[in-house]
Amino acid sequence: MRKNKRLSDLRELKVMLRAASLSTVCEEARCPNISECFSVPTATFLILGDTCTRACRFCSIKKGKPKLPSEDEPFNVAKAAHDLGLKHVVITSVTRDDLADKGAFKFIETIREVRELNPGTTIEVLTPDFGGRQDLVEAVLDAGPDVFNHNVETVKRLHRNIRPGADIDRSLNVLTWAKNCSPGTLVKSGFMVGLGERQEEIMTLLRSLRDAGVDVVTIGQYMRPTLNQIPVEKYWEPRYFDTWAAIGRSMGIKHVISGPLVRSSYHAKEILKEMKAKDAVH
Ligand code: SF4
Repeated sequence: MRKNKRLSDLRELKVMLRAASLSTVCEEARCPNISECFSVPTATFLILGDTCTRACRFCSIKKGKPKLPSEDEPFNVAKAAHDLGLKHVVITSVTRDDLADKGAFKFIETIREVRELNPGTTIEVLTPDFGGRQDLVEAVLDAGPDVFNHNVETVKRLHRNIRPGADIDRSLNVLTWAKNCSPGTLVKSGFMVGLGERQEEIMTLLRSLRDAGVDVVTIGQYMRPTLNQIPVEKYWEPRYFDTWAAIGRSMGIKHVISGPLVRSSYHAKEILKEMKAKDAVH
């Protein structure tokens, strides 16, 4: 029988994850909302190892030459979700430019395993750009996640400096392909502010996300995880986040979650539920 245990004890959850050799991005990226999310209970699992082939300057995940992906990882994620009684699972990964399939098939396997062992649990994938390969994006959508999430992270002008190896147009294509391939799937994206962007660039980015067919946009303040990452350029006042949310909605984006502490998977389960209630997705 499913345990469905309330996870009020963060330390207990961490022990269980280590026992299953799993990482969560909540811990790796030092997310400020970790206690809140883990108590829902929902968690963001990091698959395809803990080492990334890219070097985004805001990100605290280990960079370098990754190991081959573990055969057991998809099942271990599904088993952990089952044992922890998770109602919403977010599956994300490091970027694996070294793999022929860019890691897409591990996403597919993990979706299938989680679905099989946790029939009532909703699944969100937060993917890398899969090298801009439409076939891989569509293969992941075919596996039937409830939410497809891919972050653009920052405005176009800052990409080369902040997110080397990525490309805003490639990311916007990924989002467009996802929506066109599966119109009933909730498509999400997000970005940070505080990296040196200007107001008009934020407006342009919101319009581009709307044009890509993105249903939900998350906007949060960048906070430097350690001294090894790029410093914060600016702390935006909370009132700006409300303004961007209102403008994004007036542009036609269904939902904009915007606030200094908002992160990509913030209130992920509740947002999906709300969108389903509005009949915005199937
Ligand atoms: S691609 Fe993702 S995991 Fe890799 S460095 Fe950039 S933000 Fe971090």
